[in-house]
Order: sequence, then structure tokens, then C-alpha cells
Amino acid sequence: MAAVIITRRQADEDRLPHLCMRCGKTATVRSEKTFSKRQEWTASILLGGLPSLLFGMLFRDRFTVTVPLCDSHKSHFKWRSIVFWGGLLILIPALLGCFASIGNVADKVVENSFIGVGAFALAWVVIVVFSKLIGIDVAKIESHQAILMGVSDNFAKACERRKADAKSDEFDWAECR
Ligand SMILES: [Zn+2]
Repeated sequence: MAAVIITRRQADEDRLPHLCMRCGKTATVRSEKTFSKRQEWTASILLGGLPSLLFGMLFRDRFTVTVPLCDSHKSHFKWRSIVFWGGLLILIPALLGCFASIGNVADKVVENSFIGVGAFALAWVVIVVFSKLIGIDVAKIESHQAILMGVSDNFAKACERRKADAKSDEFDWAECR
């Protein structure tokens, strides 16, 4: 797996190679994906803890790109969204249910419920982090470009070639004027 720099211009003009971003085979679909990353200042140690987490969710840099994918990988991002939001949808009501049961059922039952929800939360965090590490994800978003990780070597090389070709085209065109 490789990392690739994609410029806003490449993304806006949909100039990515028609190769699957994940495996490098010929792409069969192109689907729009918005990558987002927390703005760096939100991780400031001055904020810390929960405020840092909330600011990190609210203040994010975004980078939208039409991602080419093959049949085998066309659901690459969908599965990760389902795991993330599905887990959260189970976790929040389960946690609220635990708090609501305090005083209404035996303490042992409440304790076991919290342990169960805690174990589920831990497994969910591990799966979410693992899927981010092994999948395509954004490493950095800047004003004019983004760095994506976990892309296929083939795709990354084709992207660089296209960038080099575009540069030489612009150069030739400028020379002709
Ligand atoms: Zn693929």
C-alpha cells in the first residue's frame, strides 16, 4: 500500500486515473467521497479531554474526491460507515439504558450491563481504528491538496504520472502563447 498526494485541482476536475484506488485494477465505478480530518488546533493540549474531542468533531477540514473503485472494492467506504454509525447507534441507547436502569434493577444487573456495554465499546473502538489503519484514509488536508494513505501502488504511480503529464502540458501551452 502507498500514500498519494491529490491536489484540489485533480479532485475538482476529476482527473484521477481510472484505476481502483484500493487494488489498482481497472475501475468500474467512481463514487464521491468526502474525507475529513480534525483541524490541528483542536488537538491543542490547552483544550484536552472532552472539549478537544467535541471541537475535533465540529471543526474539520474537508476534501471531496470522486474515488475510482473496482467491483470488489466498491463498498470499501460504505462498510466502514456502517461499522462506525451502526456501532454508535447501538452504543448510545445501550449506555442510556444502563443509566436509566440504576435504582430500578438489582445493582449486580446494572454492573453487568455497564461491563457488557464497556466491552462492546472497546471492541467497537478497536474495529473502527483497525479499519481506519488498513483502509484508505486521509493523513493530511491542506488548502490545495490532501495526502491519502492505504491506496494501491499502481494507483499512486498512475496519479504521479498524470500530475507530471499535466505539468508538462501546461508548460508546452505556456510556451506556445
Ligand atoms: Zn479494487
